Parts: sequence; structure tokens; C-alpha cells
Amino acid sequence: MNRSTSLLIHPEELDTVWLDQLEALGVKTLGLHPVGGKRANETLAAMLNRFETPEYRRLLDEAERRGIEVTCEMHALRYLLPADALAAHPQWRRVNAQGERAADWNLCPSCGEALDYLSESAARLYARLPGRPKRVSLWLDDSQDAFCHCDKCRSLSPSDQQMIVLNAMLRGIRAVRPDAKLAYLAYFETLPAPTRPDLRDGLYLEFAPYKRDLTRPLDDPDCEANRRETEHLRSLLAFFGAEDATALDYWFDNSLLSRYTKPPQRLVPHPGVVKADMAFYRRLGFERISSFACYLGADYRALYGLPKLDSFAEGA
Ligand SMILES: [Zn+2]
Repeated sequence: MNRSTSLLIHPEELDTVWLDQLEALGVKTLGLHPVGGKRANETLAAMLNRFETPEYRRLLDEAERRGIEVTCEMHALRYLLPADALAAHPQWRRVNAQGERAADWNLCPSCGEALDYLSESAARLYARLPGRPKRVSLWLDDSQDAFCHCDKCRSLSPSDQQMIVLNAMLRGIRAVRPDAKLAYLAYFETLPAPTRPDLRDGLYLEFAPYKRDLTRPLDDPDCEANRRETEHLRSLLAFFGAEDATALDYWFDNSLLSRYTKPPQRLVPHPGVVKADMAFYRRLGFERISSFACYLGADYRALYGLPKLDSFAEGA
């Protein structure tokens, strides 16, 4: 049985105490996750700048010395296709539900020129990531109702639109590292399985049940929210297969629990739920189980001490 686990933290929260915690938990992969939302392009750029500093370089080297693989998991679309590019090329924009070309989220996946731009942009970004990790998550914009309703895209589901966009990114990334793989993020509108197996090569499933109830197991048949979030899980796994399939949960996402506002609240995990969910994911065949663990850095420790993450190691 593969017991691969991973935690995602904000890049600015990484320090040697975090590396100690990962080691103690037996977590071998660390995902750096810049803050999402409307300003995800800025937090991503700040992370890239951080990578250039000697202090951060030392932390990344220390992670490597301890056998911890570092990857990046982030909403990258707006960084890859910035506002000025959308301003200069209105036809690259998505058409929103009101029928307007809107420069708010994502792009029009039927616009080949926009996809070519995205592809080159993804190659440049990927080349700057430390170690150029084999598996990387360059998610689309962090929003609901963020896909294109133009005449050409209207008949494509958000899931299939995402497949087209990811393929453009993957083309760029694979020019830098031919065996690189990109995550298909299943959350919000992209929870239903795609229908385009011709676009599947090089993509793996990353399932993130954002709207779940964290106080109850994901497979609790009496929990309406969790039933809804897992409704498409089996068809997603049937489509993508179990290889590299990653569950990305929110058990330790203290940014969510703090409503994305500092100071952080005290994290109160539900160990029974964590262990039941991890067993559930394994039964389904997920190769990797991960959780957000943001807002648990030095400022958290100063208020509450080390966060309680033992259930993540126990469930592994
Ligand atoms: Zn379109």
C-alpha cells in the first residue's frame, strides 16, 4: 500500500519548525500554496521572489536534506494570463453567464491564441519552480461560475473546459520537463468527471471537497453536504485512474477555519473524522492523501503552541 501524504502551507509560513513537524509526522511532501482568491497572481509572484532569497533557498535545501520533496500547488491562471494581456486581447476573455466578455476569471478555452500564450507562460513559470517537481498543481482561477459561455464553449462542461486549458499548460510544462504531470482540480463546478479521454494523458485527479462538513466523515450517508461532495468521486476515479490520484482535504486548513483573516483561530481538528476519511480515500485507491495546513506558522504557535496534527500520521 502506498502511504504517501502531503501537507500544503503558505510559502511565507515555512520555517525549520514546520520541517520538524513534517519529519515527526512522516510527511514526505510539502506543497507550497500561495493564498488564492482574486489576488492569487500577486501571492504567486511573491512566492517566486521569495525563492530567489538566500534565506528561503536555505530552507528549501534543508527540506531536501531531510528527504522532504517540495512542490507547488496554486491558482495560477491569472498569473499566467495577466490582466494586461486580457485587456489587449478582448477575444481571450471568457463570456460570462450574462453574455459579456468579462476579464474577471479564467479565459475562453476555444481561443487558440489565448491557449498558446498560456502554454508559453506556463513553461516560463514552471522553469522557475525549485526542483521542477514532477507533479505540479497550476489550478485555474479560484472562483465559482468561472467558465466560458461563448457560442463555442457553451456546449462544453466546466470540467471539459478545464481539460482543454490544462492541456495547453501541460504542453508548455512538458517542453521543460517531458515527464511532468499536472493536477486536474475537482472542486466546485469541476467535480463532475470530464468526458474527453483524448485530453487525459499527463493529467491526474486532485479531489478537493471544499464544501464538505469537516465534523462528519466524508462517507457518512446521513451527511447531505458530504454526500453531495462525493457524488462524482467514483466516476472521477474511473476517468483518471488511481495513478497519482490525490485527495486534497481541509482537515487542518486553519485559514478556512479562521475565515481567511488573521490572527489565526485555534485549530480544533476532528481526529476520528480524519482517520475515517483517510481510510475511505485509501479504499477508493487514492495514492496520495493531503490536506491544507495554512495559518499554522509562527504566528499561530505564538498564540496556541504547536498545532495538533497527530491524527494525520495515525491515519496514514
Ligand atoms: Zn469560449
